[in-house]
Amino acid sequence: MVAVTGSPSLEEISGALRTYKLCSRCHRRKLIDKFPRSRSNLDGHYSYCLCCHAKVQHARRKEHPEEHRAAARKWRRLNPEKARALARGRERRRRARLRKVAREEFTLYEIYVRDEGICRICGTECPFYRATVDHIIPLALGGSDTRANVQLAHLTCNQQKGPRVTLSTLVL
Ligand SMILES: [Zn+2]
Ligand SMILES: [Zn+2]
Repeated sequence: MVAVTGSPSLEEISGALRTYKLCSRCHRRKLIDKFPRSRSNLDGHYSYCLCCHAKVQHARRKEHPEEHRAAARKWRRLNPEKARALARGRERRRRARLRKVAREEFTLYEIYVRDEGICRICGTECPFYRATVDHIIPLALGGSDTRANVQLAHLTCNQQKGPRVTLSTLVL
């Protein structure tokens, strides 16, 4: 039986959930949801924040490319959806080449760090595996594939937006 009287209000529950955690790498205190989920950790989150986690993964990949490739194959088998997200990055570069728009070499990871893991379309937290690069002025409208013309966006936000210019862009 669950007692109805004296149970915490919705506000209290959400307050308790939004606890903070100290990142053991950058030593910044951040909201717990800024830490990737981990089943092996007591509080259910890694000890590194999302940004630090991404940086460490990136460095590891550079140091052990062979190991990374084997792990990547396994990962793609286990995470078909996320693997498709990465494929979209390659697709982005291909589309930009085809349209002969101005291009720069950059990665989703780089834009993720620059935009602090926040979707610039809806303004909320965006886990790395859901992140996409959104062209502020779409490639289809002659926008360039450069750092200045891209922003971090959820895959779903990006798809909903389609080849349009967002209102925030016009205001800016
Ligand atoms: Zn950190
Ligand atoms: Zn979004």
